[in-house]
Amino acid sequence: MIIDGKKEAAVLRNEIKKEIESIKLKTNKVPGLTVILIGDFAPSQIYVRNKEKNAKEVGINSEIVNYPKEVSEQEVLKKIKELNDNDSVSGILVQLPLPPQINKEKIINAISPSKDVDGFHPINVGNLSSGYNAIVPCTPLGCLFLIKKTEPNLSGKHAVIIGRSNLNGKPMAQLLLKENCTVTIVHSKTKDLKTECLKADILVVAVGVANLVKSDWIKKDVIVIDVGINKVGDKIVGDVEFDTVKEKAKAITPVPGGVGPMTIACLLKNTLECFKDR
Ligand code: NAP
Repeated sequence: MIIDGKKEAAVLRNEIKKEIESIKLKTNKVPGLTVILIGDFAPSQIYVRNKEKNAKEVGINSEIVNYPKEVSEQEVLKKIKELNDNDSVSGILVQLPLPPQINKEKIINAISPSKDVDGFHPINVGNLSSGYNAIVPCTPLGCLFLIKKTEPNLSGKHAVIIGRSNLNGKPMAQLLLKENCTVTIVHSKTKDLKTECLKADILVVAVGVANLVKSDWIKKDVIVIDVGINKVGDKIVGDVEFDTVKEKAKAITPVPGGVGPMTIACLLKNTLECFKDR
């Protein structure tokens, strides 16, 4: 089974749109999302435009604040404070990566945890790992959504995650622990990646190495979630050798059209939840 992330994301966006319409009828208010974009890094500009377009389509008031790449850290911090204090802003996102004069940690810490739609603030990270209510990073949230569409009861399953980034691997592990999976995280220093992967009922791959996972790395009937985005020639491919692995796996996400669309849909969901919490 090929997991259709585009279709699932469209279903989720439609639910969000309907909920926003109904809230607007009752309160005349809609969620607001402000994205801060620094510099002219082309992929960031594409991501941000996509986020804005999707946000507008579901009825979120979306705004992009653009800064040149030389902007000072002080100026960005001042803007974040202003947005924290602005009641019509439900969610704030600072698009990464940042230019070298701007400290990522300071920026993430400055965003109010209740408006941190990326789920990167240490308060949200701590709440997630304590098993409390938290704003969860969008990509792992989207991955969990796709996994549960395929297998609603994850209790007792062995989940293996390749990659331990704050963005993907670590929050993914927390989410799967919460679902009562047995979780193994592997990374670039792991001795025998293949042996670990062969234990997986659920395999989430978030590395950034094209076609790393081959079909002899997986058991039959595993659910494979491919987070990777790699450019090979003029093609975008994932971290999993799709054509061979799809023949053996129970379910697999394609790249593109798998995790990517869910990431943006989950950003909209996080924005709506932040708005409702306020
Ligand atoms: P990252 O911060 O670079 O982390 C990569 C992780 O993979 C690290 O933990 C690293 O191990 C591990 N790793 C690197 N090479 C490895 C190898 N040969 N074997 C095993 N582990 C290895 O990357 P990221 O931000 O998590 O992103 C991962 C991928 O997901 C990228 O392709 C990115 O473009 C994509 N992505 C997709 C979406 C989406 O919406 N679909 C969203 C975000 C990211 P160490 O910790 O030991 O270095």
